[in-house]
Amino acid sequence: MSDPVVALLERDLHGRVRPEAPLAAQTTLRVGGPARALVVAEDDHDLAVVGRVAAEHRLPVTVVGRGSNLLVADAGWPGIAILLGAGFRGRSVHGARVRAGAAEPLPTLAVQLADAGLTGFAWACAVPGTLGGAVRMNAGAHGGDMSDHLVEVEVVRLSSGVRETWPAAQLQLGYRRSVLPSDAVVVAAVLELAEGDAATVRAEIAEIRAWRRAHQPLNEPNCGSVFTNPPGDAAGRLIDAAGGKQIAVGGARVSSRHANFVVTRPGARSADVRAVLREVRTRVWEHAGVLLHTEVVMLGDFADGGIDPSPGRER
Ligand SMILES: Cc1cc2nc3c(=O)[nH]c(=O)nc-3n(C[C@H](O)[C@H](O)[C@H](O)COP(=O)(O)OP(=O)(O)OC[C@H]3O[C@@H](n4cnc5c(N)ncnc54)[C@H](O)[C@@H]3O)c2cc1C
Repeated sequence: MSDPVVALLERDLHGRVRPEAPLAAQTTLRVGGPARALVVAEDDHDLAVVGRVAAEHRLPVTVVGRGSNLLVADAGWPGIAILLGAGFRGRSVHGARVRAGAAEPLPTLAVQLADAGLTGFAWACAVPGTLGGAVRMNAGAHGGDMSDHLVEVEVVRLSSGVRETWPAAQLQLGYRRSVLPSDAVVVAAVLELAEGDAATVRAEIAEIRAWRRAHQPLNEPNCGSVFTNPPGDAAGRLIDAAGGKQIAVGGARVSSRHANFVVTRPGARSADVRAVLREVRTRVWEHAGVLLHTEVVMLGDFADGGIDPSPGRER
């Protein structure tokens, strides 16, 4: 029997609703189950439709950007997952001020802005997410992050279908965090960069890419750093020192190239990734007395009791 939620969505979003859509393919870790419905939204009206249907059926909604910081449960996502389509791409540049759609891939944007002779955003060439995901996460690398450049964001509230403009300060961006409400979909962002020399920025990008290729497992599915760095230390260093590079469960293991990366192989389950995360946290806790916190966003019900080190081992 057809899903009434899918039928309602399909009525307004013809051909852009996929029932029981596997989310693994939408993430860089390549694991996890299906969403009840996956919707490609092209404009604010589409987002308002999703918000209305979700409210009527009391369903959770999530946005999936490039899925480069997402771990989806094997059981999947019981609600609606939104992908932002081509309607939310594009950019315009006025002097050093840039307005770009939230679906723009950061690496593409970084290169385009370098070509435009704008400096300050080269770090984003190495973060394989979308602009919207980068705003929510306050993504950053190589000494820069979104908070350095963000002037304002435009969000569509799923609860009302209304577009709002938020000054950057309202997001309270911190280390890989923002206070963006769960019903707020970032649809565009305005950045302030600085005018510079295109050749210099391109050279900076080439250097960052070479460094990434040398230090990160870019040819295996991963989601970047799985844990945030504790104050004054690096999660990767702590994991390595605790012997974490030996940890492997099923199809997931800690990368031998970078200890704060978990990589998967075909056939891996998200339960394998969770078991690796749990074991890493336990080892670091036992070895250094530091409790690591996840940077990767967990989606769905993992039904595994969480990833805390076992209480019996806590100091
Ligand atoms: C190889 C590799 C290297 C990486 N290196 C870095 C790095 O150096 N620095 C860094 O910060 N991160 C890094 N990451 C992680 C990741 O790329 C960033 O966190 C990125 O910002 C996530 O963007 P995304 O579009 O993929 O978001 P997703 O992973 O799809 O989603 C992440 C969160 O953002 C939300 N979200 C996504 N889009 C929107 C939107 N439009 N509106 C509202 N909420 C939204 C999602 O609901 C979810 O809660 C790396 C990942 C990989 C795979």
